[in-house]
Amino acid sequence: MTEIKVEIKPQDNDYKIFIGYNILTEIRKFIDKYFSKKRIVLLCDSNIKKIYKDIITGDLEISKNNIFVFPKGESSKSTKMKEKIETDFLNHEVDRNSLLLTFGGGVTGDLGGFIAATYYRGIPFIQIPTSLLAMVDSSIGGKVAVNHNMGKNLIGAFYQPKAVFIDTKTLETLPQKEYINGFSEIIKTALIRDKKYFIFLKENLELILKRDINIVQKMIKRSCEIKAEVVSLDEKEGGLRKILNYGHTIGHAIEKLSNYKIHHGFAVSIGMNIENRIAESQGLISSMERKEIEEFIIRSGLPVKIPKNIQPDDIIKKLKYDKKSVSGIPRFSILKGIGNCLFDIEVDKTVIKSSLNNQIL
Ligand code: ADP
Ligand code: ZN
Repeated sequence: MTEIKVEIKPQDNDYKIFIGYNILTEIRKFIDKYFSKKRIVLLCDSNIKKIYKDIITGDLEISKNNIFVFPKGESSKSTKMKEKIETDFLNHEVDRNSLLLTFGGGVTGDLGGFIAATYYRGIPFIQIPTSLLAMVDSSIGGKVAVNHNMGKNLIGAFYQPKAVFIDTKTLETLPQKEYINGFSEIIKTALIRDKKYFIFLKENLELILKRDINIVQKMIKRSCEIKAEVVSLDEKEGGLRKILNYGHTIGHAIEKLSNYKIHHGFAVSIGMNIENRIAESQGLISSMERKEIEEFIIRSGLPVKIPKNIQPDDIIKKLKYDKKSVSGIPRFSILKGIGNCLFDIEVDKTVIKSSLNNQIL
């Protein structure tokens, strides 16, 4: 089992990310060591409950009245669902002396983490991400949230977990589309911070797509390291952490305009390509680099173009509600070469427009 430390100030917020194959039994040991007096409750979606019910009651030793289930899918990331689960918790007398395990994809971690942040003014929680996207991105860094009608992740908090357990064995049941969805965030971490890692991804793409366990483990470890490093340097997104939003300014708008039919990672890969066009037009990356990235993204099975039913003008309108916008003017995190990313970049509307127009399907 590999360990990565996430250092958050003040120091009692530090926690570890544990990565390994078939490590779910380790979670029980960790709980017995550090949280032996707590009542352990688990939150998961309907899908995970179906696939992992024996593991939840077996390896994790969670009794039936401590398992809380919500319907799978992004639409569950809402204030309504948060309230419903809180009511369930109260009805089952989940009290302040409880520890919450969020077992599942990013929806479970974001929703469950936000519940943990506010339930009785905060109860501890442990992230057990099972989707590739949640493993390398949403489970690390303490951002927890639900969506609002006006946009994604608009209602939330910074609330760090006590630990993150990544069991790569759970990837065996993950559908290929969800796997590729998460790979988009992996490409992102390489592009913003580590050129050598991008080359590693390029050279090993076939093994990655076949889910060769050694390569997958290495890849997850490196992406977690990058995310942990960025978050440790800037927990509350005062500056550097904004680089993690590369591809997301445009990506979130597309995701929202598709009514979440386009998966997050797929919207982000389109977003990265459009934002690379912006970078190219500003002289920040060469046309060769832009094409190199685009070809790689296509090879990995991710989209690079805006579907016909989404209008560039609507994307521009949506940018106003992006979290990074200042007084309604969008700010971009864009690449300056491969492996380096700038943030807080204001871009002229005409540049955004022509970059969008160049990436229509
Ligand atoms: P994401 O992780 O992409 O943010 P979700 O939490 O909704 O979003 O997860 C995407 C879908 O994948 C959900 O239907 C979820 O139940 C399913 N899922 C997550 N992890 C696994 C897994 N290890 N095996 C099978 N299905 C999974
Ligand atoms: Zn993302």
